[in-house]
Amino acid sequence: MYDVIVVGGGAAGYFCAINIGEFNPSLKIAILEKSSKTLAKVKVSGGGRCNVAHAAYEPSLLVKHYPRGKKELLGPFYNFSTNNTIDFFERRNVSLKTEDDGRIFPVSNSSQTIIDCFEKEVKSKGILLFKETTVVEIVNNYKGEDKIDPGWTLETNKGDFYCSNLVVCTGSSPKTWKTIESLGHTIVPPVPSLFTFNIKDKLIEDIPGLSTIAEVKLQINFFKGSRQKSRGNSFISSGPLLITHWGLSGPAILKLSAWAARELNECDYKFKIVVNWLPDLSINELYVSLNDLRTRESKKTIYKTKAFGLPSRLWMKLVKSAGLSSEEKWAEISKLKLEKLSKQLSATEFSVNGKSTFKEEFVTAGGVELKEVDFKNFESKIHPSLYFAGEVLNIDAITGGFNFQNAWTGGYIAAKAIANTYLN
Ligand SMILES: Cc1cc2nc3c(=O)[nH]c(=O)nc-3n(C[C@H](O)[C@H](O)[C@H](O)COP(=O)(O)OP(=O)(O)OC[C@H]3O[C@@H](n4cnc5c(N)ncnc54)[C@H](O)[C@@H]3O)c2cc1C
Repeated sequence: MYDVIVVGGGAAGYFCAINIGEFNPSLKIAILEKSSKTLAKVKVSGGGRCNVAHAAYEPSLLVKHYPRGKKELLGPFYNFSTNNTIDFFERRNVSLKTEDDGRIFPVSNSSQTIIDCFEKEVKSKGILLFKETTVVEIVNNYKGEDKIDPGWTLETNKGDFYCSNLVVCTGSSPKTWKTIESLGHTIVPPVPSLFTFNIKDKLIEDIPGLSTIAEVKLQINFFKGSRQKSRGNSFISSGPLLITHWGLSGPAILKLSAWAARELNECDYKFKIVVNWLPDLSINELYVSLNDLRTRESKKTIYKTKAFGLPSRLWMKLVKSAGLSSEEKWAEISKLKLEKLSKQLSATEFSVNGKSTFKEEFVTAGGVELKEVDFKNFESKIHPSLYFAGEVLNIDAITGGFNFQNAWTGGYIAAKAIANTYLN
């Protein structure tokens, strides 16, 4: 019989168990993990370097990186956010560093440092770890009465476990979501998030590796009744755009894949995007700049001009796809062609047909319905003494350390809430 059982030996589960042990060392705590390896995702995260957090310190700015969970995480981030994550690790002699793009990593550049830190903490706090132990059924024994012990029975392949408080940190596990569903919770159907777009298009086919800052807009057509509706203006993102062998990738694309995860799943990953290669210029400003080039560079071929800081091979492709020949000089270009080039530079349309995984890094959008959870303590509104933290909830973020921050914040707040129940 345990005071607390944490189901799932991943980022959220470890962080929660450690913090419960820190708040109240007298509590009997166990972690149940179905696989033979704990912290498997932490190990491979951030390309083996573990991007533990992001240098977004203000809660109102931090929440902007969560397509799902934005509203619910605001309050929790005032209790535990980036600074607290840094403090947690630094107090345990894990030095962290912030890279230019804001991502925070251990100075060692190795996820093993984080794993070693967690394992040391679990050991020193006397938290019991049961590997290869799969929870297959969760039974609430409280049934509305006041406190009766054991409150919870967990049926596993290794027999039954009993506890007063239960924290479910099982990540994106379809089987375990079914188990949670049988407790009366709603599970928002899972769909993939964080992926790249597959595109076959002459404009980008032989220039993989090129990267530029661009703005990308989604154009999704979907049917409502018999009427076709077009959506897209609500999904715009900007940032580095990377041309790959398969299509387009980079932060601008990954952000879109996260924000529109559900809509893109609905259209079976067949949709159109419009790329603005020069998002700092309006189409009119662009036309004026091109006209200016026509006067200043009149004797030069358009094709070979270095323009707007775009990679030259990309510029050549854009010029060609606007219908200009490789010999045409600026002086020879008609107004109409100038307009066509402006259009091409500010709104190139691509057809996307399918998706690919980004460096094997992906998260799942979907999970426990957020309306059924009290975010003051991450406790179920249906079953008191049942808590959720991490990816098991319908919360996910764009890349950059935000998904781990969700795991740390939820794990910490649930831990504090549980420890508080023992204060009286
Ligand atoms: C390749 C890759 C790289 C990533 N890199 C980063 C990064 O650098 N930064 C970042 O912020 N995010 C990153 N992410 C996302 C991040 O890893 C996850 O958001 C995070 O691990 C979620 O933590 P969690 O504890 O909720 O779930 P998990 O880490 O998935 O842990 C859940 C655990 O529960 C166990 N479990 C499930 N069901 C049961 C059951 N019934 N009984 C017992 N145990 C069970 C599972 O085996 C698992 O060990 C990455 C993801 C991937 C796939």
